[in-house]
Amino acid sequence: MALVDVQGVTKRFGGLTAVSDVDLTVNAGEVHCLIGPNGAGKSTLFKLIVGLYPPTKGTILFDSIDITEERPFARVQRGMSIKMQAPSVFKELPVRQNIQIALQARFSGVQRDVEEQRLLALLNLAPDSGKLAGALSHGQQQWLEIGMALALRPQLLLLDEPTAGMSPEETFRTGELIKSFNAEGMTVLVVEHDMTFVRQIAQRVTVLHLGKIFARGSLETIIRDEKVAEIYLGK
Ligand code: ADP
Ligand code: MG
Repeated sequence: MALVDVQGVTKRFGGLTAVSDVDLTVNAGEVHCLIGPNGAGKSTLFKLIVGLYPPTKGTILFDSIDITEERPFARVQRGMSIKMQAPSVFKELPVRQNIQIALQARFSGVQRDVEEQRLLALLNLAPDSGKLAGALSHGQQQWLEIGMALALRPQLLLLDEPTAGMSPEETFRTGELIKSFNAEGMTVLVVEHDMTFVRQIAQRVTVLHLGKIFARGSLETIIRDEKVAEIYLGK
């Protein structure tokens, strides 16, 4: 069952076609990775799905409902939660308060405190919860932002390059975190560059190249596809 169904979506910026007639389905319950070289249109497609850009052409369905015209806030209320490519935590506030702000939309009272402790422990941020978010390493800030997205308990979690700036160990832990939330039923769409990470988490993969779908399939099919290797190596 498709949770997200992108149908014939195009996005032009003036004369530049960033996303061209793209069809993409994300099935309920899967971890789906969107990969492709720099400038392929991945972040643009992402922003189209969450409603930060209107498409030039095409339709986007969420849970079989046409959301093409909906604002981002309405999509969040439907169960989408996003972490953009550039980290945007509240740097001048303590880590704990960042989490509290994110939880506020969904939980109150004792339940909020319980969720706060659970998230801080999951993110390995409990020892640093009193630090200003801006004082964390880049990888930890990415983590904090993933935690803020998770705080909404979304049906669909969208992550744009979540492991950028993380050490291999942090990257691995992020993968395990994503898999544990997926095991509880969360659908995840990840834009990713790091193929080791893609191999760790992906069930299905879509490859975007020059704004178009280049290949799609199971993780096994895509990693054996020589044409995909070629666009990655720039041959
Ligand atoms: P990716 O995330 O795969 O690296 P992007 O979606 O960021 O690629 O960009 C795809 C293409 O669209 C690039 O050529 C980029 O320069 C262009 N682009 C992205 N956003 C904008 C924008 N807001 N205005 C103009 N061009 C843009
Ligand atoms: Mg990008």
